[in-house]
Amino acid sequence: MRAYPLVIAAVLALLCTAAHAGCPSSVNTELTLGGSTLCVFIEDDALAKRQPILRTWIDRSAHIVAAYYGKFPAPLVVIRLRGREGSGVSGGRTTNYSGLMIQMRVGRETTAEALAADWVLVHEMVHLALPEVGDSHLWLAEGLAVYVEGIARAQFGNRDAADVWAEDRRSMPLGLPRAGEGGVDQPLSWGRTYWGGALYCLQADIAIREQTANRVGLQTALRAILKETGGYGFDRDIAEVLRIGDRATGTHVMYDLYQRIRATPQTADLDSMWTSLGVPNDPKTQAFDDRAPLAAIRAAITAPPNEGLPRS
Ligand SMILES: [Zn+2]
Repeated sequence: MRAYPLVIAAVLALLCTAAHAGCPSSVNTELTLGGSTLCVFIEDDALAKRQPILRTWIDRSAHIVAAYYGKFPAPLVVIRLRGREGSGVSGGRTTNYSGLMIQMRVGRETTAEALAADWVLVHEMVHLALPEVGDSHLWLAEGLAVYVEGIARAQFGNRDAADVWAEDRRSMPLGLPRAGEGGVDQPLSWGRTYWGGALYCLQADIAIREQTANRVGLQTALRAILKETGGYGFDRDIAEVLRIGDRATGTHVMYDLYQRIRATPQTADLDSMWTSLGVPNDPKTQAFDDRAPLAAIRAAITAPPNEGLPRS
């Protein structure tokens, strides 16, 4: 199963040593943005007929992630699309064995509308921005991908902020430790890996903004981590990564929060957090409370970066 990707990766490794890195000639289509190149292989004849809408989807997803991070988070990535029955996107996987690769399964009947609502490719592209921190810290990689996907799409205008908060409110309880479970450096359930990691990100975002008068947030830390580490193509120690983020915000939030949860299960009072942020029970049908103590922080999180500055 891995032979084919390894062949592509080997070809790309050779190309990367050339003066001008690019896609192999067998590529179906190639996208560039900034200094980045995305080599797209469509490994299904029926799916290949939809190349124009697939290209639009990949281009939009890449721009969403680039807008969040200030640039697309990898100089060169292979995207392999495999077909399946039906419509929509199901399943994605990002690997860094020897070259960065995103593998996606896409329905052969998929429409442009379904692709416009897709979250999976944005999630996978967010993985490119964090260095490899090891399997025992998957909660950080998956938590960031879950948390940033919604916010990056909301900032770009691709998803309603109310929908993002509704999902966070509904799903973050899945990230709380249950009786008998340990800290995040122990083996974790699916819920604690994905939504426990996302809860860490939200708690860090709030704390950074509280300590900086809402001047900067987690986004500033993540941009610095990408810039200083180079992202998923490189290995880094988790403590080093979190300290890079903290230096960028002038706080100790990311490292200290990790120290609190790494060996000890931490419960969180989610209800009081939602109340402080002004997030109602059902954000899709109920109004946000703009007089809540952390309402400005809530608004800044999903605002485009240049609009997230505190008002004087
Ligand atoms: Zn993921």
